[in-house]
Amino acid sequence: MAEKETPVCKVAFVGSECYPFIKTGGLGDVMYALPRALIREGCEVRVILPMYNCIPEKFKSKMKYIGSFMMDQTLEGRTFYVGIMEIRMDGVIYNFIDNREFFDWGNPYTGLWEDIPKYCYFSKASLAVLNYLKWIPDVIHCHDWQAALVPLYLRTKFWNSPLAKSKTMLTIHNLRFQGICGIQHLKYWSGLSDGLFNYPILKQNEEEANMFKGGLAYADAITTVSATYAKEIQTPEFGERLDAHLRYHAVRMKGIVNGIDTDIWNSATDKLLAAPYDVENVLEKKWENKQALREQLNLSREDGSKIMIGLVSRLTDQKGLDLVDAIFPQIMDGRTQVIVLGTGDPRYENAFRYYEEKYQGDVCAYISYNEALAHRIYAGTDAFLVPSLFEPCGLTQLIAMRYGTVPIVRETGGLKDTVLPYDPETDTGNGFTFGKYKPELLLQAVDEAKALFFGDRPRWDAMVRRDMMKDVSWEQSAKQYLDFYLELQEPERA
Ligand code: ADP
Repeated sequence: MAEKETPVCKVAFVGSECYPFIKTGGLGDVMYALPRALIREGCEVRVILPMYNCIPEKFKSKMKYIGSFMMDQTLEGRTFYVGIMEIRMDGVIYNFIDNREFFDWGNPYTGLWEDIPKYCYFSKASLAVLNYLKWIPDVIHCHDWQAALVPLYLRTKFWNSPLAKSKTMLTIHNLRFQGICGIQHLKYWSGLSDGLFNYPILKQNEEEANMFKGGLAYADAITTVSATYAKEIQTPEFGERLDAHLRYHAVRMKGIVNGIDTDIWNSATDKLLAAPYDVENVLEKKWENKQALREQLNLSREDGSKIMIGLVSRLTDQKGLDLVDAIFPQIMDGRTQVIVLGTGDPRYENAFRYYEEKYQGDVCAYISYNEALAHRIYAGTDAFLVPSLFEPCGLTQLIAMRYGTVPIVRETGGLKDTVLPYDPETDTGNGFTFGKYKPELLLQAVDEAKALFFGDRPRWDAMVRRDMMKDVSWEQSAKQYLDFYLELQEPERA
């Protein structure tokens, strides 16, 4: 039997969600796809997740019990059960931390008051589990505020354990959510010492503590999910009150753009589509997918030449939906159909329901979370809206391009880094973009898209093909992560 090769790097991922077990947004996609891409680069990867009750039974029933122990948590040293479950899938090992007191509720989040204790426990237990398994990674790669206490626990409670030689990386997927709560609440549940609750580390203001802030101060390396977002968050406009803190720690920060998993997002093999397709037959097959979508969603099929615009998103302020709301009647010019898939703020849910009623047969507001329908929308629409107020990376524009659907985006964060604006002079670009956060500029971009769609179809079709061929895979970005991991191993870092 061939000897197992030594991995280039051993990495433990710690985060609060991971497709296909549990996903509410882009973080879940990254936690799934990046470990696989790293394995292709020769790494060994373990992903540590909470064992939520809401994980589907089909996965729970496949989990193997590995072991358990008791761990002290909280200021008064209460002890809690830590169970370890395991699934191995395509070379990645997933360890789930089982504790019914913390993870039996929520979908998976419950609200900050309960989530703070949950993720304090989870962060500490992740380290305890690695020690228990005697699996000492080179890098512990933590994701968002839910795992932000890991670097602090590692350098305090675990300083004298085998794990202490591991380095930590903390990735900012979305700075808007930071895990902020009353100082006493965090002190109690984290059990971390008073000395960490000062302004350079965990203290936010006289009353509050901030988990993300503490993690950013203690992590050996910081990344965020696009180069533009890495710059933006160092300004007061996008910094969510941590801009000065981030400027201070910027020497350890890099922006690495996300990719998408091109096995899952593959229009040629996608079983959810009415008519799978590739770059050769996209034009005729997109038409079939569009008609199937119209039928499924009760949209009018009488005038098949209408442009169909899709939007798949959490319906929150971040996503620029007030702009869409402001210009919706102008978008509906008699030759346009719109499909919105999403849930969130009732204000937007109701606005889109209203437009569905008003423009019957031409608008569908599907207020729900539905993976299968998302695939069909990416395949069946012509253009795709992502007018976000801010967007750390954004995956939907990448998926849209992969499926030959032309994105219309605002030039912010990862949207700016991944969608090259169409230039009629040179007939180049991937989509339509606008700069300032103004409804009339979004409308202008939509109108430019329509002008090309209705006025110069050969050029539109060429852009569809160009978008499908654009490299939106994880390969390049996984290489950059690996380089950064290896940089951390060098004793004399620059
Ligand atoms: P965010 O993480 O801010 O929500 P991203 O663009 O990074 O935004 O990732 C969103 C992911 O969630 C994409 O995979 C998208 O297809 C998916 N998604 C968002 N809303 C829905 C929905 N209602 N139904 C199905 N998938 C959705």
